[in-house]
Amino acid sequence: MAQYTPMMQQYLKIKSQQKDAFLFFRLGDFYEMFFDDALKASQELEITLTSRDGGGEDRIPMCGVPYHSAENYIKQLIEKGFKVAICEQVEDPKTAKGVVKREVVQLITPGTVMEGSMLDEKENNYLASVSEFEDGIYTVSYNDLTTGENSVAMLSEGFDAVLSELFNRPVKEVVVDETLDEAKQQMFKDRLGLTISFSNQTTIQESFQSLVENIQNDKCREGFGRLLNYIEHTQKRSLDHLRPVKMIELKKYMSLDMYSKRNLELMETMRKQGKKGSLLAVLDQTMTAMGSRTLKKWLERPLLSIDEITLRHEQVEGLLDQFFERETLRDQLKSVYDLERLAGRVAYGNVNARDLIQLKQSLTAVPQLLETLQQFNHKAVHYLYEAINPLTELKDLLEDSLLDDPPIHISEGGMIQDGYHPQLDEYRDASKNGKQWIAELEAKERKETGIKSLKIGYNRVFGYYIEVTKANIQHLPEGRYERKQTLTNAERYITPELKEKEALILEAQEKSVELEYHLFTELREKVKQFVGKLQILAEQISRIDVLQGFAQLADQYGYHRPEFNNHRVVDVKQGRHPVVEQVMEGESFVPNDIFMDESKDVLLITGPNMSGKSTYMRQLALTSIMAQMGSFVPCEQANLPVFDQIFTRIGAADDLVSGQSTFMVEMLEANHALTHATENSLILLDEIGRGTSTYDGMALAQAIVEHIHESIRAKTLFSTHYHELTTLEEELARLKNIHVKAEEYEGNVIFLHQIQEGAADESYGIHVAKLAELPDTLINRATTLLHELESNRREETDEEQLSLFVEEEKVTPKPQTSKVESRLQNLNLMELTPMDAMNELYQMQKQL
Ligand code: ADP
Repeated sequence: MAQYTPMMQQYLKIKSQQKDAFLFFRLGDFYEMFFDDALKASQELEITLTSRDGGGEDRIPMCGVPYHSAENYIKQLIEKGFKVAICEQVEDPKTAKGVVKREVVQLITPGTVMEGSMLDEKENNYLASVSEFEDGIYTVSYNDLTTGENSVAMLSEGFDAVLSELFNRPVKEVVVDETLDEAKQQMFKDRLGLTISFSNQTTIQESFQSLVENIQNDKCREGFGRLLNYIEHTQKRSLDHLRPVKMIELKKYMSLDMYSKRNLELMETMRKQGKKGSLLAVLDQTMTAMGSRTLKKWLERPLLSIDEITLRHEQVEGLLDQFFERETLRDQLKSVYDLERLAGRVAYGNVNARDLIQLKQSLTAVPQLLETLQQFNHKAVHYLYEAINPLTELKDLLEDSLLDDPPIHISEGGMIQDGYHPQLDEYRDASKNGKQWIAELEAKERKETGIKSLKIGYNRVFGYYIEVTKANIQHLPEGRYERKQTLTNAERYITPELKEKEALILEAQEKSVELEYHLFTELREKVKQFVGKLQILAEQISRIDVLQGFAQLADQYGYHRPEFNNHRVVDVKQGRHPVVEQVMEGESFVPNDIFMDESKDVLLITGPNMSGKSTYMRQLALTSIMAQMGSFVPCEQANLPVFDQIFTRIGAADDLVSGQSTFMVEMLEANHALTHATENSLILLDEIGRGTSTYDGMALAQAIVEHIHESIRAKTLFSTHYHELTTLEEELARLKNIHVKAEEYEGNVIFLHQIQEGAADESYGIHVAKLAELPDTLINRATTLLHELESNRREETDEEQLSLFVEEEKVTPKPQTSKVESRLQNLNLMELTPMDAMNELYQMQKQL
């Protein structure tokens, strides 16, 4: 240490407290990075690496970014999951003795960014914390700093449940205790792509006690305490807008584990193409960013209470019935800005006058919105506005105070209206009158001197002056004018009278800008008093937005209102898959019925590959999720039970080399479903058991079906290509065979995608081969072999299905592709320079 210059010593000292962040060290107009930070940042940000002498033997690696464009660089690092500590000069370099004092003023992390450009407006940005207790109990706490939302949930089913809870939620970063098992930390990173942060402190300080008043449970308080301590540590500013912590009662919601969320492609597709192609993308017809975020929350937690669900359905129905009013409503929602995040920024104290104008415009839209809602002839719709407080007081305050087109900066004036504050009016009058006086003075001087071209001007250096051309100087009276400046053709003069007035005008202007700044900050404080109410209003408007979106959706795609029953009856007429039906180009989706009552718990689905088995199974799961969220559903008629959980398991693809371990994963997943499902659950098992050699897999598949049928009695859809399993119908009373129909037409096989009763024709594959005009001898040989197989039940490989379509690509999840693999896959080799290629290789090697 001692060998380094004093500044480098200061750097190293600060860096030692910010080990897991890039330290942006302010030096004049730059943020500089040194040592390893510099090496890493120069690569991540593609900026030039240099070096400087720091007193030691070797030069120190260094790179930097200009202060004024730092935000963009910080954004890049945050998006990659890194943290950035901003270290500023905290005393004036001119007056400082020795090295300028520097301090970290903010730690920016993926879960705590506030800057608009780093946020997706349609997503929450959660920071989570996970605390572990005895007996597999965990708490998961959430905070969204941009909206002030806080919540906590307790999970008692082990670490897998924690992963499922966090999966697909817009969480960027998770705070844990340093002693949390390495393997678990690794899973947060690998499976969920989270940045890990540590905080061992869990006691809640006095000033935050009010946030957790409603939380009785000690574990939840402790868990949330960890989160709060971390937020305090990173944010060195006001946290007034944090809202009381909500307890998430998981029992009240349908539970979906990680595998099911992924397999059903609720939030994103399995191939990680983002939202496109997901259920969320279909459902999102909201008009505001807040609505969009709320919709996602509803999709994350479908309801179990029939009353709550019914209320939502009634509201959708009411909104659906009146097309024109709904159009008006949608239009009005467009003029509501993101009240929730605006409220967050008000509380943070970093809004400018333009933000407050947005707030004013949003509040102006509210009464109109309420009026439109009143025009719906449906009582349930009226509930939507009855509780709304349109905050007229706040709207009036903003209307009376702010000018409509204020500048971005709050130190330039031009924000506050005339008539808002007497003193400000006086200053403005003084400056206006002064200018008037000067205009009059000009006229007077012209008259007195008889010089028509005499004029009064203003510049920054001399202030106001009287300008007379050289030719006219002779006409000036003696002694009254003091010469100030000589130009080629003219002379400029001042008079004591003029200077006196000038002082008054300038002072009035300066004072008025100062006063405006003061009045604005005062106004901001007043608005701050409304933050809580604004948050409630934002919530109410979000709800309206989501529900009108559901109505819009139902109208557009012909969805219908589902009914519910308590007898475990599933009865859907002409059901469709909400996502598949929309991506089909040209062809039309074939609707199918599904019926299961007390005497039918398991449907065993057979049929060739690509005929529509998975689609059929998933459409029931998606329909149930939509119904329990409060949406209408894609079918003509639906009567459904309220499912407490949905489990979806997909048999590992047959193109895998690592058969054994994939099979293991498949069995683990299946086991999870078997241990947690109840008779009120829905289980989808798609080609389960095919990750191993045929008879193993078949035996297991059969045992699983039997177990579900006998001991769990959950509603189950089971697709399989093990034709032998269709005989189970004879043994298991509540199991029925169904199949997907396919037909021949002019020598081609056509998938009709129609579900029919009974098992599929077993020799289907061979039939297809015949159609494809394979030689007769070959067909005969295949038929003989098939019979042999049946009688001998000889162990065979997975290809016994003899379907011609096995080569067709089947959408089954690949084993998680590693980061390196997907990086490799996404490389555009044609566009890479050799240098880029080297860099890529280096990066990949680092990820190994
Ligand atoms: P399987 O599970 O039998 O292999 P999938 O359910 O994956 O088959 O369906 C394969 C393809 O068939 C789907 O991607 C879709 O394009 C089409 N498909 C499935 N069901 C239908 C349907 N009901 N109507 C129209 N096309 C369908």
